[in-house]
Formats: sequence, structure tokens, C-alpha cells
Amino acid sequence: MENIQVKPAKKLEVGIVEDLLKDPNKVVIVQTAPSVRVALGEMFGAKPGTSVTGKMVAALRQLGFKYVFDTDFGADITVWEEAMEFLKRLKGEGGPLPQFNSCCIGWLATAERTYKDLFSHISTVKSPIGCLGSIAKTYFAEKMNINPNNIVVVAVVPCILKKNENALPYNKTNFIYDVDYCWTTKDLGSLIKDNNIDFMSLVDSEFDNPLGESTSSGTIFGRSGGVLEAVLRCAIYWDSHTVYTNPIVFTPSSISPDILETEITIANRKVKVCHTGMVGVRKLVEMIRNNECPYDFIEVMSCPGGCIMGAGQPMHLPSEGITPLEVRKARISGLNDIADKQDRKISPLNQSIMKIYDAMFDGTAGSEKAELNLHRKY
Ligand code: SF4
Repeated sequence: MENIQVKPAKKLEVGIVEDLLKDPNKVVIVQTAPSVRVALGEMFGAKPGTSVTGKMVAALRQLGFKYVFDTDFGADITVWEEAMEFLKRLKGEGGPLPQFNSCCIGWLATAERTYKDLFSHISTVKSPIGCLGSIAKTYFAEKMNINPNNIVVVAVVPCILKKNENALPYNKTNFIYDVDYCWTTKDLGSLIKDNNIDFMSLVDSEFDNPLGESTSSGTIFGRSGGVLEAVLRCAIYWDSHTVYTNPIVFTPSSISPDILETEITIANRKVKVCHTGMVGVRKLVEMIRNNECPYDFIEVMSCPGGCIMGAGQPMHLPSEGITPLEVRKARISGLNDIADKQDRKISPLNQSIMKIYDAMFDGTAGSEKAELNLHRKY
């Protein structure tokens, strides 16, 4: 696997994209990660956790993006593949258990440096921005008759490290990078200000389709525990065609209060799963090495609370009278509110993805063709 290294901050990226937006030969697409929509408004006076999805899309159109897509769509694809991978592992047809998520670049970077011996446990599925980028430069390019080399994919993300993820050599499809540039939430907010856009007065706009459709499972990717919940619901559906929408309740593990666990039945067996951060995972890694780990799936998110608290999100000073914990709770609650309002709760019910899989991947997650485009080879 190539080293995930921290590159110097690339303020340049914003300027390069601004130039590309003026290039008539380029089709510049933008996608926005789940957690951006509940934090961007804070740069314009909104309370933490306020959903500004429609205004964010409208601002991106004003900035000149030809298509505005939703990374929640990419998250639904990640769920399709990761759930199928999990089922295969549960049935003894895949890699070892427990399976780790692969969408958090902070976790991947740590695993690469410190837990190399456990890489076979980490899902091979691309992150949501990579899955969307791959579909944009294959399915969408063909549908719209655009040369994929002329498509530029920009991802607006809560994460500074994602600026490095997009340049990793395995994040390609047909030798073309899935994502070309990453902006943080703060980059986007600053650009909106630089362009004198009156953000809070913008009339809401909607994502473009088909890469703008999502379920609530894609939305909750932005908070801790969301990836795990989404994968469990999808795995249950793939296994038994049951739409499982009951709440999944996590409780602190006896191993550590940093680890939140639950048990659920999938593929006729009790499956024990948990989510944690960088402290909890250290204990779990030792348990795996000693063959003592009780879990089948472990979600690890580097940032406390998940991507909603990524380093690319707006920060609040103590003088503002709000603590980081309060910000975290407000953003989680904002994301959950969006998810609650979505009709479809599980990723397999994303109609656009169904059509794309029928057209490209023999109609099923985990197919050879899906693996070629949507998985990494570490
Ligand atoms: S949890 Fe933090 S480090 Fe991990 S992908 Fe999200 S923002 Fe990046």
C-alpha cells in the first residue's frame, strides 16, 4: 500500500478549481459530504447543527459548478459494497473477521503506520467520495456523452486528510482518479464570502440526479456509529430481504467506555459489533492479535463524534459560549433530523443505485465488475 502522508495545506486547490470552472472544455462536478450541510451555516451566523443543504447547493451553482451531487449517494454505494463484503466474511467466503470500515482516512492512515498486520481486516471498499467520483467518470460520463478525462470532480469534505486521500494511486477507475480536488467546509465558506454571496438569503436548490439521490443510511455516515448502522441494515436486507428500521441501540462495552457495542442477528447468527475512536481501537487491535476480540464488525472514526467534528469544519472559540461537546451534539442532532425526514432508511432502496448496478455491475453488490470499480487494492 502507498503511504498516506500529510501534504502541506493546499489553499492552491481552490484557485485551481476556480480556473477550471472557467474552462469551456471541462465539466466541473461537485459533491458535498453529509456533515458539511450541518456545519457550513455556522460561518454565516447559523447555530451549529442548522441544516443549510438547499442554500449550500444554491451557492455551489452560483460559483459555477455544472452539476451538484450528493456524497450521501456515494455513501449509499459504500454501504452496498461494505455490507456484501461483511456477509461474505460472516459466511467464511471473504477475509477475516472482525471487519473494519475503510471510509475514515484518519483511521486508515493510522492503520497503515501502526497496524499493518491487520490490513486484511479492513474493508476494501472506496470511501463515499471515491464511489461517487468513480460513477461520475464512468456511468454518468457515458450517459451524458462526456469524455471522462474532461470531467473534474471536486469533493467538499469536513476533513483535512481527505485532501490526501484523493491523490492515492488506488483511488482510480480505468486509470483515472475518482476525485480530483477536495475542499474543506471552511474552504467553501471562505469562497462564498470572497464572492460576496449572501448565503443565508439564497433560495434553496436541490441536488442533481441521478447522483443526488440518497437514503437516510447515507446521511448518517457523517456521525459516529452511522456507518455501522447503515451496513447492518443493508446486510440484513441482502441476507433476508427484511427492511430493518428498528432503532439500533449501542451500550458501553465492558472492555472500555470508549467502545459502544450491540448484538444483532444476521445470516442466522448473533453478530457482535461496535463503534469506537482512536483510543478504543488500540485495545481492540491487541485483542485481535491475541485472538480474543469478541466483535465481528468494528467502525473506527478518528474524530470524536465522527466527520461532523472533522478538522475542516468551522471551529468555535470558548469566547463564543459554546463547548466542543455542545457543537458535536448539535451537529449530530442536525444530521439525525435530516435522516428522520427521509422516506427510505436503507441503502438498498436507493433507486438510482439500483439502475446503475443493473447497467454496470450485473445488478448486484460484490460482483466482479463492482469490485473492479468500487474497491481498492491496498
Ligand atoms: S472522522 Fe475525521 S479523519 Fe475520519 S474521515 Fe471523518 S473527518 Fe476525516
